[in-house]
Amino acid sequence: MTTVNLKCHCGGVTGHATDVTPSSGNRVVCCCCDCQAFAVHTGREGDTLDQFGGTEIFQMSQSQLTIDKGQDKLQSMRLTRKGMLRWYTSCCNTPVGNTMNAKMPFVGVIHSFMDIADRDSVLGPVRAFVQTQYAKGEPDYPQHCAKFPLGITVRIARKLMVWKLQGKHKPSVFFGDDDRPMVKPIIADGIGKS
Ligand SMILES: [Zn+2]
Ligand SMILES: [Zn+2]
Repeated sequence: MTTVNLKCHCGGVTGHATDVTPSSGNRVVCCCCDCQAFAVHTGREGDTLDQFGGTEIFQMSQSQLTIDKGQDKLQSMRLTRKGMLRWYTSCCNTPVGNTMNAKMPFVGVIHSFMDIADRDSVLGPVRAFVQTQYAKGEPDYPQHCAKFPLGITVRIARKLMVWKLQGKHKPSVFFGDDDRPMVKPIIADGIGKS
C-alpha cells in the first residue's frame, strides 16, 4: 500500500491519497469532450491533455484523499447544470479531479494533481482508453475503445459498489456533512460541445 503525494503546480494545495495500489482503483485515459473542455477551462490543457486530447485519471474512493494544505483553494465547476463536478485549484488552476456527488463514493483524480515520478509503477498500467471517438487525430493508444468497454465498466461499477458499502464516500474533501459541495460550483454552460 502506497501513500501518494498530491500537489498543485504551485504547491499552494497539497495532500495525499492513502492505500493506493494498481488494483485499488481504476487508471483510465478519457478523451471525451467534457474532459477536454475542462482542461481548456483551466488553461492547463498543455500539461493536462496528452497528444490525443486524453486526460489520465485514477479513480479512487473519496475517503482515500486528504488535503493537507490549501483546502480553501479548491474550486469546482460544472460544464453543464447536471454534469460532473470538476475540481481545480484557484491558486494555479491545476485540475484536481472529477466527482459526481456526495453519494457517489469516487473521485477521478487527474494526473496533474498527483506528485508521482513514475505513475506506471505506482498506479499500474492504464486499464482503458475511453471515449476515443472524441480523440484528436489518430490515437495510437495500445488498446482503445469508443465509449466505455465492458470490462472497465464492470470494474468501475464493482468498485463503486464496494466503496459505497464500506462507506468510503466519507469523509470527503469535496462535500460537507450536508452532502453539498464545499464550494458552490461555477456553471460554465456553453463550454465544449455538451
Ligand atoms: Zn497551486
Ligand atoms: Zn471524460
